[in-house]
Amino acid sequence: MKLKWKPKKLTLVIIPDANQSVVRFRVPHLFAYIAGASFSLLLLITLITYALHAQTTKKANALQAKLSGANQQWNATLTSKDKAIEQLQNEVIQLSQQAEQMKTQVEEMKKFENDLKSIAGLDANETGKAVASTTVNSDNKSTEEQTPPIAISGIGGSPNPASQEAIMHLGEQTSASFTALNSEVKELQTSLTETKQKVADKQHLLAITPTLYPTNIKIVTSTFGYRTDPFTHRPSFHSGIDFGARENDAVYATADGKVVSTGKDIYHGNNIVIEHSKGLRTWYMHLNKILVNNGDNVVKGSTIGLVGSTGRSTGPHLHYEVLKNGESIDPKPYLKANRKDD
Ligand SMILES: [Zn+2]
Repeated sequence: MKLKWKPKKLTLVIIPDANQSVVRFRVPHLFAYIAGASFSLLLLITLITYALHAQTTKKANALQAKLSGANQQWNATLTSKDKAIEQLQNEVIQLSQQAEQMKTQVEEMKKFENDLKSIAGLDANETGKAVASTTVNSDNKSTEEQTPPIAISGIGGSPNPASQEAIMHLGEQTSASFTALNSEVKELQTSLTETKQKVADKQHLLAITPTLYPTNIKIVTSTFGYRTDPFTHRPSFHSGIDFGARENDAVYATADGKVVSTGKDIYHGNNIVIEHSKGLRTWYMHLNKILVNNGDNVVKGSTIGLVGSTGRSTGPHLHYEVLKNGESIDPKPYLKANRKDD
């Protein structure tokens, strides 16, 4: 296409091919101006459109970048939240395991308390529940004896993720377990305090009760009751027990108490009286030597004198008496414990 300029009109020549004839159009001059202006306008519109497009693209890119950043931040937040939830779930599992361990410990403490009661001989006064509990515990004990403990540390298994509902349920169960344990521990504290007091009472009662043999040799040469008097050979009442001990064998206090009398006379020889409690006194006669003083506090099993044959005696022995509210009673029912056992 070619434009030819003429003063008034413009000739537009089209040359299609070498073998074809040239086509000419003659157009008015004004047409050229209009065409030029149109072209310029089109160019201007194109430029403006391009500029607007470029600006829009820039804005869109900026928005996209911003959105991408926000998305990343959101993902990071989500990941962090997921981790926090996982950690909380693991803590719930750990707490549930701790609750189980505490249950076992509380059960062991209950068993310990029952054993303590059993040792202290407190079971007789307990309820059927306590007896049943003891029976169960003794069964457990026999099971434990049959299967010696083995050190176990390995764990494994296929991965089986816990559902959120399961963890929620576990959390509720754990919370209930801790509430129950709290109440059980409080009950146990009360019960243990009572048991401690009962054991202490029992211990005190045992300490002040003359249950020990007063000599190592337990051969009884004369019992409590009526007998033929060894000197007069006439019927008489023997108010104690004679132990056929050897000269200078140790004589032991048969219970905790206070020495209320030491002395010597022609009948009892060297003798000691100890006051215990609940109206009980013990009397040790025919001693070769007295090793305590009047007013001394003595503990059960301590040596208070040596066996002899002083006073009205046919040979070395210990005449031992138990007095209840001033009256001689048979010491035999009291004699239960070997000195070494106490
Ligand atoms: Zn006697």
